[in-house]
Amino acid sequence: AQLEQIKAKDKEYNCYITVMEEDALARGKEVQQLIDKGKIDSPLAGVPMVIKDNICTKGTKTTCGSKILYNFIPPYNATVVEKLLNAGAVVIGKANMDEFAMGSTTETSYFGETKNPHNTEYVPGGSSGGSAAAVAAEEAFYALGSDTGGSIRQPSSFCGVTGIKPTYGTVSRYGLIAYASSLDQIGPMARNVSDCTAVLDIISGYDSKDSTSLEGENYNYTEALVDDVKNMKIGIPKGYLGKGLDEEVRAGILSAANVLREKGAIVEEFELDVVDYAIPAYYVIASAEASSNLSRYDGVKYGYRTEDFEGLQELYKKTRSEGFGNEAKRRMMIGAFVLSSGYYEAYYKKALKVKARIKEGFDKAFEKYDIILGPTAPSTAPKLGESLSDPLKMYLGDIYTVSVNLAGLPAISLPCGTDSKGLPIGLQLIGKHFGEKDIIRAAYSYE
Ligand code: GLN
Repeated sequence: AQLEQIKAKDKEYNCYITVMEEDALARGKEVQQLIDKGKIDSPLAGVPMVIKDNICTKGTKTTCGSKILYNFIPPYNATVVEKLLNAGAVVIGKANMDEFAMGSTTETSYFGETKNPHNTEYVPGGSSGGSAAAVAAEEAFYALGSDTGGSIRQPSSFCGVTGIKPTYGTVSRYGLIAYASSLDQIGPMARNVSDCTAVLDIISGYDSKDSTSLEGENYNYTEALVDDVKNMKIGIPKGYLGKGLDEEVRAGILSAANVLREKGAIVEEFELDVVDYAIPAYYVIASAEASSNLSRYDGVKYGYRTEDFEGLQELYKKTRSEGFGNEAKRRMMIGAFVLSSGYYEAYYKKALKVKARIKEGFDKAFEKYDIILGPTAPSTAPKLGESLSDPLKMYLGDIYTVSVNLAGLPAISLPCGTDSKGLPIGLQLIGKHFGEKDIIRAAYSYE
């Protein structure tokens, strides 16, 4: 039934880069037998799902939305994929995304843009736009996305689904194709808080294959699914409601805050002065890491290789010129620049200092509040085509999401109504380090 749904809808929405029709059918039968024999006992057993195309799937193309990996078939599974398979998941395909997860609209994909299922004139958000749109269009029950600066939360917000960016180190990055390794984190996207939580339970946990993986106390998030926020202290940063925020989004966020207040939470506004520096610091650090991570695509080891070339230099140059799109090139050039001698101190080092300040700012806020509440994005989804011509404006749209990655914190985005165009508004709840249970409890109570 899920494959039929994809056939009926995906020509229009383009959520999938690869649909694994035969594999999924065979896998469905296999899992059914395991369930019948009592060998799998997991809420995810037999449930069809989609994986963002920057997460390695053994034997299935993993393109990162790029021409330079258009034919790359990984010889191994990412840890998250192994964990899902052990829980009986039925992987039904690979989701479209911005090239190398760089973008906020899924328009930079080599495989064409994904459309927002709520209105196909609008973008689904990004970079995990294929994942979010697939869940919204019921082309999958849930999805995996990745979030470096908002890529799980912002498309979840634009498509009216729920997505969790876990604490950095909670979910293994082994097998996630790197964009900015110090910020990247895999997380679930689904139709509601409990579905997301069920997936997070399975994919989280320490992994020795990821050197930044952390040992949490307890990864049983489902126990946080309680409808009770009595006396929970919730802070709203004043800067999150200020200049640049769409009026209808502001109204949606404030009425969500009221719902929590009526349920007994203590909600108040406070000053979080680090908001202003988050975007420049993020784009310096993310681009620096990207320029280093993407240097491995050279036409020699795997992926796309140019046809005619003389010598190694020309092989590199032509392969990379032809294989990467404009946004990836822009990031690599910015990254190489901010790391170059003479500029390193002025840009990269300074950005690291700002990162430390942001973390301190949040730490201080969490001395007083259990969670922080605000919008996921300053507006609802923009129209297709509007963002490509103005990348700076697109970068500014990440204002409420990037600081969470810089500080390594967990955050959830969940729907809180629609605007007058009928487009979903996203509510963001940010937790302290390893504070997933707080944001899950508040989100579940709100929902
Ligand atoms: N929009 C941000 C960027 O382009 C975030 C992307 C992400 O989280 N992968 O870098």
